[in-house]
Amino acid sequence: MSARPLLMIPGPIELSPGVQAAADGPALSHTAPDLIAAFGQALRDMRAVWQAGPDAQPLVVAGSGTLAMEMAACNLLDPGQHALVVDTGVFSARMAEMLARRGAVVRRLSAEPGEAPPLAALEQALAAGPLHAVFVTHVDTSTGVRVDLPAIASRVRPTGALLVVDGVCALAGEAFAVEALGVDVALTASQKALGLPPGLALSVVSPRALEARAALAHPPPLALDWTEWLPIHRAYEEGRPSYFATPATGLVRALPVALRELLDAREGPHAGMEAVFARHARVARALRAAWRPLGLRLVPKEALAANTLAALWLPDGVEPSFPAAVAKRGVVIAGGLHPAIRTRSVRVGHMGHVTTRPELLARTVRAIGEALAEAGAPGDLDAALTALERGLAS
Ligand SMILES: *Cc1c(COP(=O)(O)O)cnc(C)c1O
Repeated sequence: MSARPLLMIPGPIELSPGVQAAADGPALSHTAPDLIAAFGQALRDMRAVWQAGPDAQPLVVAGSGTLAMEMAACNLLDPGQHALVVDTGVFSARMAEMLARRGAVVRRLSAEPGEAPPLAALEQALAAGPLHAVFVTHVDTSTGVRVDLPAIASRVRPTGALLVVDGVCALAGEAFAVEALGVDVALTASQKALGLPPGLALSVVSPRALEARAALAHPPPLALDWTEWLPIHRAYEEGRPSYFATPATGLVRALPVALRELLDAREGPHAGMEAVFARHARVARALRAAWRPLGLRLVPKEALAANTLAALWLPDGVEPSFPAAVAKRGVVIAGGLHPAIRTRSVRVGHMGHVTTRPELLARTVRAIGEALAEAGAPGDLDAALTALERGLAS
């Protein structure tokens, strides 16, 4: 076992050796030819990873996922315009708060932790009045719930409302395609399934979304304004130096490496993003099979369980400090995040590089199993490891 702890939280995640090497390079000017080439390549590759059409605009800004969310909120809506938030947890609630601060009229369609609002409720909300935009969290990291995005998109599209997907804990892990779904803004952060260090807010926005920005009566704060960022993105894609605000050059250098690893992925008969999605699904299935003999139950119903992380109920009698006991065994998992279940649940991230490394997944199951035994809630660790191995092989 290496001395360095293994990161199995829902971001930041473990890096691949290739991404690590690219991110570790020397200082780089924002006008260096290498940086311009990397930025342009990254923007082209983002369209492929997001599965977006040629007219979609990728945007890469120094910041975290929260910044990309804020940019969506204040580039799409003027104060007084109506928005609906499909609320599956903490990050949907954050989105609703951002929209409220923008002055939008926000309706939240909520569900108990571990559940998603029923489609019938969505249909009713859509029928209740014209909405300017609908915001959905693809996977809410606080509950481990993945919404049925194709079903939601098919309801939203005919209404003409803009569709915004917070894909921070989903993109490059869960099946997703901007163009096929008709998504107007698909946003994420570098440190989740994309597999980079933290520091980049990434969005792909549709022409309709850019039109909505152009039509605003009240422009967003300057640093958040897509209109300010567009010229430098166009310049980088055309191979010209440009400046609006200094990009995170080390991360931009690593970005095309991470995107290329995704686009070059192979899994059985699948290639590219389909292979990435299939691999995450296989790993998630195998881990779900391993949790059962350990006596760990998922917070979401199985049909809503994400492939990128597991939110797990702590067995009776196991303290909320459980992640510390796992960390003593060299594996870092996350505590609960959703206020209603914070002390009763833990979260294990399983996205990106670790999904290609069965021994790291086994190390995780072993550390959790041993910590459960120590906490007086022993499961069948051998059965869990066997279930994991079988699941990974299937
Ligand atoms: C992590 C996360 C965010 C916030 O991203 P930061 O990079 O921490 O700002 C937003 N939404 C979801 C679904 C997330 O998992």
